[in-house]
Amino acid sequence: MKVLKFGGTSVGSAERMKNVADLIQNGDAKIVVLSAMSGTTNKLVQLAEALYQNKNDDANAQIDALHDNYKQVVESLYITSEKKKQANELLTHHFDFIRAFTQDLFTIHEERAILAQGELLSTALFQFFLEEQGIPSVLLSALNFMKIDENEEPDAAYIAKNIKTELEKYPESKLFITQGYICRNAFGEIDNLKRGGSDYSASLIGAAVDASEIQIWTDIDGMHNNDPRIVKNTYPIAELSFDEAAELAYFGAKILHPSSVLPAKQKNIPVRLLNTMQPEAKGTIIQSERSGGGIKAVAAKDDITAIKIKSGRMLLAYGFLRSVFEVFERFKTPIDMITTSEVAVSITIDNSKYLSEIVAELETFGQVEVDEDQTIICIVGDFIADRSGSGLKIFEALKDIPLRMISYGGSKNNISLLINKSDKVEALTKLNEGIF
Ligand code: ASP
Ligand code: MG
Repeated sequence: MKVLKFGGTSVGSAERMKNVADLIQNGDAKIVVLSAMSGTTNKLVQLAEALYQNKNDDANAQIDALHDNYKQVVESLYITSEKKKQANELLTHHFDFIRAFTQDLFTIHEERAILAQGELLSTALFQFFLEEQGIPSVLLSALNFMKIDENEEPDAAYIAKNIKTELEKYPESKLFITQGYICRNAFGEIDNLKRGGSDYSASLIGAAVDASEIQIWTDIDGMHNNDPRIVKNTYPIAELSFDEAAELAYFGAKILHPSSVLPAKQKNIPVRLLNTMQPEAKGTIIQSERSGGGIKAVAAKDDITAIKIKSGRMLLAYGFLRSVFEVFERFKTPIDMITTSEVAVSITIDNSKYLSEIVAELETFGQVEVDEDQTIICIVGDFIADRSGSGLKIFEALKDIPLRMISYGGSKNNISLLINKSDKVEALTKLNEGIF
């Protein structure tokens, strides 16, 4: 069994959906996980904002506009009038459901139910298309098996048990369609795996069914060695280890949701990143085998805040770092990078929601300095047997750029540097010239 996930752009129009249908018909057993059509989840988020603010006229206009978009998709996706009718009834059903929220109290529960509509629509429309084409397939509701627990972590045992129950109902079937992103929470309510979570769904489903491979289909031919939106002449990386891919995904390579590496790694299932627009391209394979040494790729993560705490109390003291970390823990704020000297520690965070509260508490330990608008440049590869002088090449390339923090040796796969965001383009370009 393989799991194939298609992102929003891959199902973003009637034409793209037809294309996906072509790509999944080789007779292998597979579960196809779909995102919402591109733009839909963003529009549902906007709609929820309007509903929170009781802007009902605005909300109704948004709902009508989205419904109209989908009517056009139906018009171009199906051939027969029966299927068009059936699909339009489905749309009416979903949009009436959405419209009902304009008349009632709007809370996070209603918001989650609204956000789930994008994936419910894309998968149902796609299933209708397969039916019309005479391609046998079964639509599974992810709400019957995807689940998160009280800590909002996926419940792997529940998922494995329940997806098996679903699959066993159709012993003859080889093609299953289901929704990415959506799930139920510990209370059985509709919830989701957070934005971009369809990749995570695919990986969790792959792990649950012990898939032979997880394929993530997007509109780019794999993970690139540098940010193709910023730097020219980037190329797809043929092979990455799970750890390298996780670092890159976390530090900016937008193509893969960072959480999606772990379930695949735990079950040792290869993850292939492929391009719907160019299906013959090899893309990137992520697997446990050693993928060779040296520098593989560079990624950048913006909107980082650096916090420096300087204190004489740190000198020769123990327990100081713990008290510092506890502040971040209290405000549920993850730390990305850390560097220390004997009298100071610098920390970066990417969520500055509680910045002022954090700073106020840290000031009880010593002098605190905050630098906003920072960027982490993450250089990924296998640096364990760093015989090729990777460090020298990196610093040579960046010799004109002020480095605020350097983190080396935290893992064998990552060198992270903190710079001003305004130096990012230059840093990525210089690294491209200097290290590849
Ligand atoms: N549709 C959801 C989003 O746009 C999930 C996903 O596409 O991965 O975030
Ligand atoms: Mg995505």
